[in-house]
Amino acid sequence: MSQKKTAFITGITGQDGAYLAKFLLGKGYRVGGLVRRTSHSESMTQRLDWLGITGDVELVDGDLGDISSLARIVQRLAPDEVYNLAAQSFVATSWQQPVLTANSTAVGVVNVLEALRLGSPKSRFYQASSSEMYGLIQEPMQSETTPFYPRSPYAVAKLYGHWITVNYRESFGMHASSGILFNHESPLRGIEFVTRKVSDGVARIKLGLAKELRLGNIDAKRDWGHARDYVRAMWMMLQQDQADDYVIATGRTTTVRDMCRIAFSHVGLDMDSHVVIDPKLFRPAEVDTLLGNPAKAAAKFGWTPEISLEELITEMVDADLARLKPRAS
Ligand code: NDP
Ligand code: GDP
Repeated sequence: MSQKKTAFITGITGQDGAYLAKFLLGKGYRVGGLVRRTSHSESMTQRLDWLGITGDVELVDGDLGDISSLARIVQRLAPDEVYNLAAQSFVATSWQQPVLTANSTAVGVVNVLEALRLGSPKSRFYQASSSEMYGLIQEPMQSETTPFYPRSPYAVAKLYGHWITVNYRESFGMHASSGILFNHESPLRGIEFVTRKVSDGVARIKLGLAKELRLGNIDAKRDWGHARDYVRAMWMMLQQDQADDYVIATGRTTTVRDMCRIAFSHVGLDMDSHVVIDPKLFRPAEVDTLLGNPAKAAAKFGWTPEISLEELITEMVDADLARLKPRAS
């Protein structure tokens, strides 16, 4: 009988970490995850609770900024696979906290890589890279060979994470892959991101808890997929004999306006009567449009997305309606 594999996930309390943990448990993995101590630990496992898996994962204390904690965890778990999903992940916040963003989103990556190089060099490593690295796009459809042009402190930090992953692969022969994932969402998406802000806002308006939804640049276009589809791609990358870099995207781009219209029309409301454009929500530098080409992942390991934007947005609106209903009655 083959031995149970162990995976270690940084960012397990986040959207992707929770879905990935569930996916790996389903494949029979032992799953360990990094958690940061806070003064309100009861809310820490919200997403894992939502998926019903809190009791099935091993949560270990540490922080991306504390390499001693990472070294200790690597020694204790001896992971076959490490998924580095932890980061300060919100673009808008990265202008307010650029140094913190650099420390976790950039330096955090090399901390994990060093802990592995010194303590478990055979572990396979996944880095959560981002389509935000394309920023001011240099090609209409972005692939692994498209030049990067980051437009926020977040994207600059992610670019470091991407290249240090490539560098550790090339310098030390580590099995280190970088997944360049385009935006992916779910009912577990943070409330500050636009899809979730919209699904939550639509649910509030429908239930009579709010009248308007304030948004920034609704002409921006994104290539949105479902987190459940995207965590499957992370795992598939680490099952390849050779580590490599892959774009994960749907190949379809939609404006924030049209995404919003899907959400409002799902509950029979007219978005034009409720959306208010708030100039304060515009960003110092915008990424106007993103559109990914996932052909390499499809050709190398047969990954294709299964959930459409319409299914994603309606699932999110329905989940927020269910969450908020008790407050409306
Ligand atoms: P979330 O913001 O939902 O989760 C981020 C996770 O990182 C949380 O678990 C958070 O912990 C943890 N974290 C942050 N800072 C530290 C730190 N210093 N030490 C330890 N843990 C830390 O992000 P997502 O799940 O959406 O994204 C996962 C990764 O993928 C991120 O790196 C993100 O930048 C990247 N990415 C995401 C995309 C998307 O569309 N979702 C697109 C492309 C890349 P806590 O709960 O304590 O805050
Ligand atoms: P990002 O692509 O990682 O920055 O994901 P977001 O969901 O935060 O933003 C996607 C796009 O929606 C960006 O171009 C934002 O400028 C745009 N957007 C418009 N209004 C809002 C808003 O109110 N909140 C957020 N988060 N984004 C908004």
